[in-house]
Amino acid sequence: RPSPSPARSHPAPENGGSTDSCRVRVAVRVRPKNSEELAHGADFDSCVELQPESKRLKLKKNNWSCESYKFDEVFSENASQKRVYEVVAKPVVESVLEGYNGTVMAYGQTGTGKTYTVGRLGKHDPSERGIMVRALKHIISSMSFETDRVAISYLQLYLESVQDLLAPEKTNIPIVEDAKTGEVSLPGAAIVEIKDLEHVFQLLQIGEANRHASNTKMNTESSRSHAILIIHLQRSSRIKEENSCSLSNDTHDIFPDDLPLVLKSKLLIVDLAGSERIDKSGSEGHMIEEAKFINLSLTSLGKCINALAENSPHIPTRDSKLTRILRDSFGGTARTSLVVTIGPSSRHYSETSSTILFGQRAMKVVNTIKLKEE
Ligand code: ADP
Repeated sequence: RPSPSPARSHPAPENGGSTDSCRVRVAVRVRPKNSEELAHGADFDSCVELQPESKRLKLKKNNWSCESYKFDEVFSENASQKRVYEVVAKPVVESVLEGYNGTVMAYGQTGTGKTYTVGRLGKHDPSERGIMVRALKHIISSMSFETDRVAISYLQLYLESVQDLLAPEKTNIPIVEDAKTGEVSLPGAAIVEIKDLEHVFQLLQIGEANRHASNTKMNTESSRSHAILIIHLQRSSRIKEENSCSLSNDTHDIFPDDLPLVLKSKLLIVDLAGSERIDKSGSEGHMIEEAKFINLSLTSLGKCINALAENSPHIPTRDSKLTRILRDSFGGTARTSLVVTIGPSSRHYSETSSTILFGQRAMKVVNTIKLKEE
């Protein structure tokens, strides 16, 4: 049986021009001060100043030392969920609708707004909705249900074990890479076809409840695990509009009664575990184990980003399950956006600084296989 067609590749820049269009986009979002920070005033002074016009962020270490960093966008505490979606995720979603793979990730210290940015449901208050709900709404409204299909898998990666948030009895789901196409799949994970926004809310709510329940059972915080939403898209309507894209007339496991000619793509939306360093000295038993694994997956993500940013011939994607799942998101054909979230308080200067530096390195990563072949 033929393997599924890979998603499309982005074109290389013309005349060896700028690679900027293929670069990983990175935005920084500052969370509003919380009640503790507001109550303690000067003690929790802000160490962050934004310059929205120049898209710069100034990070103040003390009265004498201040660094300035440029991002693709800087979001203040007043930025709306809608604006964050439009800048960070919408271009990726549009590209996924055209048949490319895409990834949107949130990275930052626990409590800085990753889940708020990515996973907030906002069922009754549309202005509160995060990237997952907005992306699915955007996809549903752009599709023709006669010829197109969309399905989701929702997973949690905890202690190097992939668990299914839609079918919690499924644990230790394997990660498989297609030897020919390099495409990553997770056989055994539930893939649920969706039809409307109500169904999206239902599934995301189930996922959220299972994430909470499994973390309570394991006596851990959700900030210790990575949540990964995979949106599988299969479109025939686009084929009528455009003939030059890669087509497939094979069958694919995801949708059992496959359409004859389809364009396939997937979007990964990832709420990463808290990036803070975990104090191992105070940890016991499974906490030490946990600290090791959380550090392993985020450290290995950092290593891959460094290697890609430096154009290294070896990208160590096999070092952790997180980087294996994200293998075709970085440096491949995918279009990738990262939002790094930070708190405003000078109390967390060192974590904020390391989050900012992670974001700065990710900005150097250029995606596209064609570019690499040049
Ligand atoms: P994380 O996922 O990084 O641990 P959360 O998303 O849980 O952080 O955010 C921590 C708290 O701050 C939550 O109560 C959340 O509602 C609030 N929060 C985070 N970002 C914002 C924001 N931009 N606007 C309003 N509240 C926010």
